[in-house]
Amino acid sequence: MRILLVEDDELLGDGIKNGMTQQGYTVDWLKDGHVAELALLTETFDAVILDLGLPKRSGLEVLKSIRMKGVATPVIILTARESLDDKVLGLDAGADDYVAKPFDLKELYARLRALQRRAAGRAEPLIHYGKITLDPASHSVFLDSKRINISPREFTLLYKLLENAGRVLSREQLSQSLYGWDTEIDSNAVEVHVHNLRKKLGEDLIQTIRGVGYMIDRIV
Ligand code: CA
Repeated sequence: MRILLVEDDELLGDGIKNGMTQQGYTVDWLKDGHVAELALLTETFDAVILDLGLPKRSGLEVLKSIRMKGVATPVIILTARESLDDKVLGLDAGADDYVAKPFDLKELYARLRALQRRAAGRAEPLIHYGKITLDPASHSVFLDSKRINISPREFTLLYKLLENAGRVLSREQLSQSLYGWDTEIDSNAVEVHVHNLRKKLGEDLIQTIRGVGYMIDRIV
């Protein structure tokens, strides 16, 4: 899952980015409201963690502006614990949830998982697909109830394809979701992960749509 983190506090931003990266998230970190808005208008993220007090444009202004322009990406705002106004204004401006500073990263992860569920229209925390079960909280995948050994990037790719079952995802979308801006990647990286997932979970699980990308069929 590719997350945009917008936070101008170096220490806090660093802590969130490192923690989330260890959890297998791809985190792109920006430090002012202006560039964050540009990024949100031009790139695809699975969710945004948005501080409100930011240089150049406040988080609230960014939020109002992107919602007005039709960006539907789920947003969690970071608010000060005491400020009821921030929470209310933020939610009314289009935020989906908030976390009050100081917070435990575990709470942020749980809120992100809840947002992903809602965005995908699921109420059930586990994703079931035929004989496959994926658990976003423990980052585990089971085939016929047996736990499969899977790398963080393979996990992210499978999660993304399952959440979008029935839709073709392009190599670029998948690669952005796995790597964000930070990493210089091999253009074959997505293919390699797909190859490994097929070996582990069955050759016909992921379809190649020639010239477009990859898809997991919707189960009817
Ligand atoms: Ca700030």
